[in-house]
Amino acid sequence: MDYTGSHILVLGAGLSGIGVAHTLAKLGATVTLNDYKQIEFDVEENQRFLDDNITVITGQQDFVLLDNTDRVVVSPGISLEIPIICEAKKRNIPVVGEVEIAYEVSKAPILGVTGTNGKTTTTSLLAAVLKEAEWDVYVGGNIGYSLSEQALAVPETGVLVAELSSYQLESIDKFRTKGAILLNVTPDHLLRHKTMERYQAAKENIFVNQELGDYTVLNFDTPIVADMAERVKGRVLGISQIRPVTDGAYFDKDTCYAVLHGQAVPVITTKDIHIPGSHNIENILSVIALTYALGVPVEDIYRAISKFHGVEHRLERIRALQGVTYYNDSKATNTDSTIKALESFTEPLILIAGGKDKMTDLEELMDLVKTNVKELILIGEAAQRFAEAAVKAGVAHIHRCESMEEAVLLSARIAEEGDIVLLSPACASFDWYARFEDRGDHFRRLVERL
Ligand code: ADP
Repeated sequence: MDYTGSHILVLGAGLSGIGVAHTLAKLGATVTLNDYKQIEFDVEENQRFLDDNITVITGQQDFVLLDNTDRVVVSPGISLEIPIICEAKKRNIPVVGEVEIAYEVSKAPILGVTGTNGKTTTTSLLAAVLKEAEWDVYVGGNIGYSLSEQALAVPETGVLVAELSSYQLESIDKFRTKGAILLNVTPDHLLRHKTMERYQAAKENIFVNQELGDYTVLNFDTPIVADMAERVKGRVLGISQIRPVTDGAYFDKDTCYAVLHGQAVPVITTKDIHIPGSHNIENILSVIALTYALGVPVEDIYRAISKFHGVEHRLERIRALQGVTYYNDSKATNTDSTIKALESFTEPLILIAGGKDKMTDLEELMDLVKTNVKELILIGEAAQRFAEAAVKAGVAHIHRCESMEEAVLLSARIAEEGDIVLLSPACASFDWYARFEDRGDHFRRLVERL
């Protein structure tokens, strides 16, 4: 697309906003980058803004920014209901999200991954399988690189693999994926989306513009996801751990099978899989389904999966000490991911949970804690509400700690040989840490020091 001569206002000066501002400027647009927060950029970043002729305005968000603006591009972190966006709509200025620009810019097809949980793991594995098959893979989105910058870089012969959050999908228009994976939809981010229906609708945007010949992988074991099949315009690939499917991938006994037109071929068995839990089988099946349908040879799919050891902060094994193994699952920022973590182990568990409370229902989680966890250690702002829910569920051993250090030391003191100590907070990290990575790194350092 030719952006020459157009005036574009980019809202949000984080990774995506900065990325899309540079992308558009390089393609000839006149770009203003704005954030309502005051932001100090480092010298190199400021130089890059100068080189690309980007006007940067932070610390305010007046409506005059909209004067002479042809289009507004929103970063995923920004709610579509803030005043300046309402004003833009009133003035009939088109408002789109950053991924829409990525779609316009990319010469290569896009493969997208979304879901409440498992996006980063699945996106990383999908990229690994395609690289194993020597595809020219560019990865971006919710995963550390702005999607639009990757879209600018990817050649026509390559492929753009995109991790897509509901926030990114909420504001698309024509954005189309050649292949989409929709893993699961469980309650999260309801503060922003307000209702489950709206959250689900945002997720469905991953396939809404697909055409015949495109693919969508759906988890057939989750009714709310399976039901989407009737709305998919491309070809549906199902995944299941309960029964065989005719197109997609399924798990039976210890083997993952790829299937097309009812013809199943074995791909890999659990002895060659190094990421624990049935939720990771779900992630693996979704990658098998899509890559096999795209023509990747089974040997390449097998090799990449067998080499994959997961992503940091997602059920990451840190060390074993005196027969006790420590796992960092700091990325478990909602109850469902913690439930999945608890279901991944058969050993006695000491669970460290809590953090910035998301106020989701805790009944299912605490019922599982009661049966699968021998000692529950609670931290952070959510500790009180979690403790009340644990008592109500009949959890016997509950401890409260005022710091991560105290929690780790306590876990080491009460753990016995054969136990697993698991940090899986079921909460955001913002009460004590800027990012979940910082929480996981802190935990890891403390465990390594034991
Ligand atoms: P996301 O990028 O969607 O947050 P991650 O791959 O980073 O997903 O994993 C986040 C958390 O969810 C981790 O605790 C991980 O163990 C758990 N998880 C991973 N895959 C799944 C899945 N398919 N279903 C539920 N939980 C999952």
